[in-house]
Amino acid sequence: MKEACGVFGIYAPGRKVANLTFDGLFALQHRGQESAGMAVSDGNTVTVVRDMGLVATVFDERTLSGLQGHLAIGHTRYSTHGASDWDGAQPVYRPVGRAGFALGHNGNLTNTTELAEKVGMFPGSIVSDSDVVAELLAHAFPETEELSAALQAVLPIVEGAFSFVLMNTQKLFGVRDPYGFRPLCLGRLGPADAPEGWVLASESPALSVIGASFVREIAPGELVVIDEEGPRSVSIPWLKEVGPRLCIFEFAYIARPDSKLYGREVHATRCRMGELLAAQAPAEADLVMGVPESGVPAAEGFARASGIPYGQGLVKNRYIGRSFIAPDQQARGDAVRRKLNPLPETVNGKRLVVVDDSIVRGTTQRSVVRMLREAGATEVHLRISSPPWRWPCFYGIDTPSTDELLAANHTIEEITEILGVDSLAYISVENLKAAIGADGGFCDACFTGDYPTALPTSTPVLFRVREKPVAYQAVLPGV
Ligand code: AMP
Repeated sequence: MKEACGVFGIYAPGRKVANLTFDGLFALQHRGQESAGMAVSDGNTVTVVRDMGLVATVFDERTLSGLQGHLAIGHTRYSTHGASDWDGAQPVYRPVGRAGFALGHNGNLTNTTELAEKVGMFPGSIVSDSDVVAELLAHAFPETEELSAALQAVLPIVEGAFSFVLMNTQKLFGVRDPYGFRPLCLGRLGPADAPEGWVLASESPALSVIGASFVREIAPGELVVIDEEGPRSVSIPWLKEVGPRLCIFEFAYIARPDSKLYGREVHATRCRMGELLAAQAPAEADLVMGVPESGVPAAEGFARASGIPYGQGLVKNRYIGRSFIAPDQQARGDAVRRKLNPLPETVNGKRLVVVDDSIVRGTTQRSVVRMLREAGATEVHLRISSPPWRWPCFYGIDTPSTDELLAANHTIEEITEILGVDSLAYISVENLKAAIGADGGFCDACFTGDYPTALPTSTPVLFRVREKPVAYQAVLPGV
């Protein structure tokens, strides 16, 4: 149920968009590596292809060449448990209304159980929160023939985090929840005075890779409909007015460094996090290094602000997946060893400042510190460019249970000892916000416990499909 996914959508009359969707999804691979999928429409029929695995595993030239059409949505999915749930792959779809629709979701809903009850889905029959939304929309169709009308009816009762992309045979839709927890932006193909198509994506690099230009972020609470007339906003009767709360951890870790969020380039904000961290928690040392790759920009900033030389003390194997999702502690520790290897000639005899983006369970840091000491480091001063992670996320970031969150169960002194470092400091919430320097509001509940919404009253009982069904291609009938 816990996903930090990537979503993409494109409407480009006269173009074959399956390959562009592939490129967009490939640029969003960091947001989800468990499954990938797309739905493509040629104006009459929507075809959905989705499967477990990376974008380049699910789609090859042959699959893409069979996906004809000018309108598409796509999804990359990342869920916590490492379980292989074929049925959790997206887009989800429903062959209802005049032509059926497909949906891709980034975020987590907080009232899934209540929503499921409304449409008679019982514990054990729920595949995912996204599937429940598809079911709600399908139920809205007897009253309306239009997907945008169904969305206007259903969205106000959906609570929690959602950036949705949706489509039927004719139109593309994008919507963000009123808090705007998860990002979504709009791009344009072709010049402003003669647009050739429109694109929606979780992050702006997915626009650049297909030659689209960034137009703007979709506003929190905004529904955009895109068809031959271009994009237009449709108003949603949200139940209450709330302020924007973009996930602050997007800046610290999730988003690509070349993404722009709240008008800020993420890489630059990470460098500033390092600069402010150097002022907040200085250290006497010979070398500053980052834990590849996510700790590197903040390490650069730390070195610049402290005047301590910057160096590369660890090499990362580029071909390795994430260690975070390995099933147990032993496997996670082994995975860190396979992923990172020290450079003894750089670190031997040195007092090191080691910068990383976050500590969750502490697995990475424990292995890193041991490796660096074995390679000859005389001191290790650990600096973390996000505050102590003490609270679980309910809005779409994968978090282990509170028992496993290191900072939820230990003081900074205890963590210093557990990790075996000479000193440890985390950036303060104030400095993290100052480094980002944006006017918009943030959700920082993982660091502060300040949750903007009511929390789920129960955990939905999910129906798991562990085997891949024989047919994995769904064709929705046209008008
Ligand atoms: P840990 O080793 O359990 O302390 O995890 C911390 C490392 O995992 C961080 O340095 C990040 O690079 C990475 N990380 C943090 N949050 C997540 C997440 N939600 N999903 C995957 N990786 C993460």
